Amino acid sequence: MAAMTSTSGPSSVPSRPLLNRRLAEFGTTIFAEMSALAVRTGALNLGQGFPDTDGPDAVREAAVRALRDGRGNQYPPGPGVPELRTAIAAHQERRYGLSFDPDTEVLVTAGATEAIAASLLALVEPGDEVIALEPYYDSYAASIAMAGGTRVPVTLRPRDGAFRLDLDELRDAVTPRTRLLLLNTPHNPTGTVLTRAELAEIARIAVARDLLVVTDEVYEHLVFDGAEHIPLATFPGMRDRTVTISSAGKTFSFTGWKVGWVTASAPLTTAVRSAKQFLTYVASGPFQYAIAEALALPDAYFEDFRTGMEAKRDLLAKGLADAGFGVYRPSGTYFITTDIRPLGADDGFAFCRALPSRAGVVAIPNAVFYDHRAEGAPYVRFAFCKREEVLRDAVTRLARLG
Ligand code: PMP
Ligand code: GLN
Repeated sequence: MAAMTSTSGPSSVPSRPLLNRRLAEFGTTIFAEMSALAVRTGALNLGQGFPDTDGPDAVREAAVRALRDGRGNQYPPGPGVPELRTAIAAHQERRYGLSFDPDTEVLVTAGATEAIAASLLALVEPGDEVIALEPYYDSYAASIAMAGGTRVPVTLRPRDGAFRLDLDELRDAVTPRTRLLLLNTPHNPTGTVLTRAELAEIARIAVARDLLVVTDEVYEHLVFDGAEHIPLATFPGMRDRTVTISSAGKTFSFTGWKVGWVTASAPLTTAVRSAKQFLTYVASGPFQYAIAEALALPDAYFEDFRTGMEAKRDLLAKGLADAGFGVYRPSGTYFITTDIRPLGADDGFAFCRALPSRAGVVAIPNAVFYDHRAEGAPYVRFAFCKREEVLRDAVTRLARLG
């Protein structure tokens, strides 16, 4: 081919690979692939994690008011509108006793996704190692790669019915080149919620080895069975080395609005803002005002959201178990990781590609969240942030598999 091109003169088609080496290993995200499969086949979509009902009317109406009143229709301030930054700081104070200055220690982003990317782009030097809990949310690997970092997975493995962190493995993964830990609790896709004891030890490791921590806490309000979400930033020595990330998408069921945020010390916030300003600069103007109101909703909203989701978890967990799946009952998030081996299968990709025709349901193969693909092969994730009748229908359909 190359010889032909040179003899026939310049070609109108670029000859070198288009996608740079950092991104070459990442194809289309599994969420896009599986949602497209759901649309194409008419299957129930328990794959991509988005609710099938919108969040509170009052919050939606607040967005409409902001649009009509001309608030946020032009570029909002770079760090986010003051109303939202103040509401985020108040939320961190009220829920966790963490105090952040809305002017210097809060940054509004285009969803948690931008917060993660901006944090890594800002804090990681090419060649730095970034430790992340595997299986990991797919944007982590891509963001580490875009920052030129090297990802170092520490794998959560099943123990006593849940995916657990091995603290010794985490300790051993730290090298002189480790720059930061990228944490996620409650954890997507496993539903694991790190315990106080685990977080305390992670904090000790971070302080002892002088690491930064970026902690993705987007499911902070979705913890079940009395489990507690404890922000890593509350542990001794962590406030000045932790970037905490959350998002309105998960807590208020408006994933399309893409309102996320960072809370961190002023120097860390400034660093993350340095990268963020050149990604989107700003986003979601009118929605920022609406989320400011959402964060001030009474505690009853958060509790009802949590208990409603816990009931959905119970419904789907039982249905999956009845259908023959091995079920890892999640302590948090709106995902259930299952083991398909009791159903006589061991390749989650093949299983998920066939599931729409076999049962009319779409799910996500956890292998995409692993560097060690083989380790993730037998696991499949189902989302339960769907209406009760949809979950009941899904359970009935999945019962056919047995
Ligand atoms: N982190 C985790 C763990 C997620 O599951 C998601 C998906 N919603 C995100 C980040 C991205 O959040 P956002 O939609 O706010 O960008
Ligand atoms: N966070 C959602 C999930 O894990 C998907 C978000 C996305 O599509 N990027 O399903």
